[in-house]
Amino acid sequence: MFNKSKGQHILKNPAVVKAMVDKAGIKSTDTVLEIGPGTGNLTVQLLAKAKKVVAFEIDPRLVAELQKRVMATPLQPKLEILLGDVLKNELPYFDLCVSNLPYQISSPFIFKLIQHGRFRATLVMVQKEFADRLTARPGDKLYSRLSANVQLHCRVSHVMKVSKSNFRPPPKVESAVVRLEPRVPKPPVQAAEFDGLLRVCFARKNKTLLGEFKQKSVLQLLEKNHRAYLTARGLPAPPADGGASFAELVRRVLTESGFAASRARSMDEDDLLRLLLAFNRANIRFA
Ligand code: SAM
Repeated sequence: MFNKSKGQHILKNPAVVKAMVDKAGIKSTDTVLEIGPGTGNLTVQLLAKAKKVVAFEIDPRLVAELQKRVMATPLQPKLEILLGDVLKNELPYFDLCVSNLPYQISSPFIFKLIQHGRFRATLVMVQKEFADRLTARPGDKLYSRLSANVQLHCRVSHVMKVSKSNFRPPPKVESAVVRLEPRVPKPPVQAAEFDGLLRVCFARKNKTLLGEFKQKSVLQLLEKNHRAYLTARGLPAPPADGGASFAELVRRVLTESGFAASRARSMDEDDLLRLLLAFNRANIRFA
């Protein structure tokens, strides 16, 4: 009955649902965003506390079931269901996001969320290993592009572990709930630009940055961005010398910023931000 390819693992333990709702810190004035309400076990508890719940659900069968569940109850006017794929739609206004996420969209959804950025907090159930990657710090085995991206934009904390027996059907792996709170003030960069830098740095996180930025494909892409950036601002383009002077510019940025011998695996979000700003000052752009 449930479709595993859509990540349909229904949270069946009311105590876990209640713990999530309690830990979300919902105010009676809040609009809550829920991704994948499914049969509505979490939704009805959110509706009891919030001013409004906006829920994205991809499966029309489950939308019908949820509509039936709230029909003619005092909760009905507070619920707005959006039928569709949350990844293909703009996020509506919300104060909090509280969801038992479909696991296959966890990563792109978290990226979408941090690019959106306008919310007080997010409390989501994800796979335990994904939660560990979100909270991993420099030097940890699971420290990755995802960790650095999320931690630049948000403070991330582990809330609780949830065992697979709490779901129907049970998933193959354990789960965990994490909390994300946007940093104030916001970091002075576009999420896409920072992610562009991380894609290069974390392609091989154990290599030195000097080695990473010597790769032909990286230099070609960055030189293309650099030329487009300069042209758009009416600034003179670098000489057409087969990329030699651009490669030298990149090397200089790395050396003068002090990161030439650094490796992404041990750089925190502030190091990476400083590196990005050094590249940007030299008109080198990543997105
Ligand atoms: N919230 C329910 C619960 O806690 O029992 C169900 C959670 S279940 C893990 C994930 C839900 O997300 C399913 O209802 C599934 O149909 C829905 N879903 C999967 N992919 C989606 C997407 N791209 N956009 C919106 N909903 C999606």
